Amino acid sequence: MTLRARAQQKAYSELQRRYPEEWQVLYGKEQAILLPPPGPGSPKGRDRNRLHSKAQTRAQLRLAHAHPAEYRALYRAWVVALGGKVFEPARCGTTSGYQRHLREGGWACEDCLQATRDAARRAYVPKERTHVPCGTWGAYMRHRRAGEKPCRECLDGVNRRNKERIAERRRAS
Ligand SMILES: [Zn+2]
Ligand SMILES: [Zn+2]
Repeated sequence: MTLRARAQQKAYSELQRRYPEEWQVLYGKEQAILLPPPGPGSPKGRDRNRLHSKAQTRAQLRLAHAHPAEYRALYRAWVVALGGKVFEPARCGTTSGYQRHLREGGWACEDCLQATRDAARRAYVPKERTHVPCGTWGAYMRHRRAGEKPCRECLDGVNRRNKERIAERRRAS
């Protein structure tokens, strides 16, 4: 018996012990592959029947619809016993929850919206403000706005600018 087969055997007997009734419905006669509960990620139609006999599919669906929580627990115990991981739909209040709402074609709930807003805010890096160098009109005005005396360079720059303007006006007239 391989290691995997032994783990599977252990998982089956554990399930038989914990869920005797469900076990009878689904796996009373032969060992079968346990299918994920109906929903995203669960095989459908022909794929399902390849893994299951039709009677088992019917039993599984009946069980999954009548006892969704128990069926999910049964499936989870089985997968975990085999060393796997169970696909869980994303929780609300997370960005993955927001994505799930969109995939399902609905509006995101307030918790998911808030989580996405928070994530966007955390990811936002403010653009570094580019400072115009001293000696320009912009830098001169920056000194003025800050309530400080414009530096020599800015004063010279503005004087030069004004002189050029006056000269231009003279040339034009
Ligand atoms: Zn949500
Ligand atoms: Zn300056």
